[in-house]
Amino acid sequence: MQPLFDKAVICGIGLIGSSLARVLKRDGLAAQVVTLDASAEHRQQALTLGIVDAATADIAEAVAGADLIVLSTPVGAYADLAAAMAPHLKTGAIVTDVGSVKVATVRDVGPLIPEGVHFVPGHPIAGTEYSGPAAGFAELFEGRWTILTPPPGTDEAAVAKITQVWQAAGSMVEVMEPGHHDRVLAITSHLPHLIAYTIVGTATDLEGTLQQEVIKFSASGFRDFTRIAASDPVMWRDIFLNNKEAVLDVLQRFTEDLTALQRAIRWGEGDKLQELFTRTRAIRRSIIDARQA
Ligand code: NAP
Repeated sequence: MQPLFDKAVICGIGLIGSSLARVLKRDGLAAQVVTLDASAEHRQQALTLGIVDAATADIAEAVAGADLIVLSTPVGAYADLAAAMAPHLKTGAIVTDVGSVKVATVRDVGPLIPEGVHFVPGHPIAGTEYSGPAAGFAELFEGRWTILTPPPGTDEAAVAKITQVWQAAGSMVEVMEPGHHDRVLAITSHLPHLIAYTIVGTATDLEGTLQQEVIKFSASGFRDFTRIAASDPVMWRDIFLNNKEAVLDVLQRFTEDLTALQRAIRWGEGDKLQELFTRTRAIRRSIIDARQA
């Protein structure tokens, strides 16, 4: 297949960036794949793994002549990165990203993208609790959704090319308004992570013997929360800081529902508990049916 891009730059060769780099190399989507990464260790790992052709920490050198630039660092680093690369971007280049929040990305990065360069924000709904280039794999996106949130008036050919990249990765693509994306993800991803971080945090604060038993008997439910709560601290700090309103809104509703459950337990209202647990079981069934389990 003829490469879609001459030079693709992956800015942040972590779990997501390295998985996408693997797809670009596997399918020959880019003639040259370069990574820009702040970590010397990750740059070296990416070269050793053979998932990039070159690695650098020099922004100007990385983006010079590039026709695809993928921002895949934690979202808090995006604005500084975009500002630093802006003067060196080639006319006609496409800048995209993989970040988990979209309103802040469009707000912070959009204005920094020069005239003649296309900006197509995106978010693959796929991941694991692991980080770094060694954790990535080309199949990560297979059967998963990728949401694109191009601002109104974005060049259609640029959106089509980014769609083609995600489809090559085995992903289904949907275009969405950024605010809608952030509300959906607040409930499906951000709130569950916040709950997991809280439960594991509460258990960590327990006194000595009880804490040891939490670890010993963790298979009864706690273990599943620890997997989610093992996700990258910097990435998740940036997600909560950058999707504040949608997360606080959904957290308010969650708190009300939790209080209602607390009341049902206190007053022995078993029918209320059973009715809720029956409904939630059906949701699990729909996720399995939609092959997103
Ligand atoms: P990751 O594995 O931690 O990788 C991030 C990489 O970016 C690391 O190599 C990191 O180096 C590097 N980096 C950080 N700041 C940088 C900077 N200013 N300039 C250049 N490189 C920098 O992270 P990830 O899990 O792939 O997540 C990356 C993005 O994907 C995030 O925006 C996240 O919201 C999004 N996302 C993640 C998931 C998921 O499940 N993990 C799913 C979908 C989307 P250091 O380690 O030295 O900091």
